[in-house]
Amino acid sequence: MSERILVIEDEERIAEFIERGLVFEGYRVDVAHDGQTGLSIARETPPDMAIVDWMLPGMEGIQVCERLRAATQIPIIMLTAKGEVQDRVRGLDAGADDYLVKPFAFEELLARIRALFRRSTPSSRPEVLTFTDLMLDTGTHRATRGGRIIDLTAKEYELLELFMRHPRQVLTRELIFDRVWSYDFGGESNIIEVYIRYLRQKTEAENEPRLLHTVRGFGYVLREEEE
Ligand code: CA
Repeated sequence: MSERILVIEDEERIAEFIERGLVFEGYRVDVAHDGQTGLSIARETPPDMAIVDWMLPGMEGIQVCERLRAATQIPIIMLTAKGEVQDRVRGLDAGADDYLVKPFAFEELLARIRALFRRSTPSSRPEVLTFTDLMLDTGTHRATRGGRIIDLTAKEYELLELFMRHPRQVLTRELIFDRVWSYDFGGESNIIEVYIRYLRQKTEAENEPRLLHTVRGFGYVLREEEE
């Protein structure tokens, strides 16, 4: 059974961005737009983790965090638009395990979530993802194709990791934006095309068969052959 994550966030656009991404990753997600609702959901269907926005209408996120912490040991991630050290300390004092400053890319949030779940289940380790002759080490961030080392920038790595975690699945532009850039980036630019081109140049440097295919009108997919 997949983990259940409670998201308490009043900005609907951000709540949907988080929910969409987590559901795609296979988590079960409950969303509340204020603290009271969030706490009652937590009582009725106890989550395995909570993501709590700092600025909420009515009860503040920090109070929600304190109440959750008083009732349960689940990991809590606080979201905030404020980056001040003072707030960070207050958040951690209130029992938050981690802290993420808005705006953030979904991958950042997902990395924190994975790390927190790992902390409670110490058996999982960095993985080596493989797809045909392509390999990606999530610990060292090293990529190889047929043993040949591929140098990737940080963004190229994130994009390739996303595809390798979802092989043969068509990823829409919207999803790629959410996951590798952020909800504030603006979906009109051609940045995805540019990065796909970089990745193709690097993964096909020795004329290897194409693995990153365009699905016209939808997005992109990692698969062996053109269909
Ligand atoms: Ca808010």
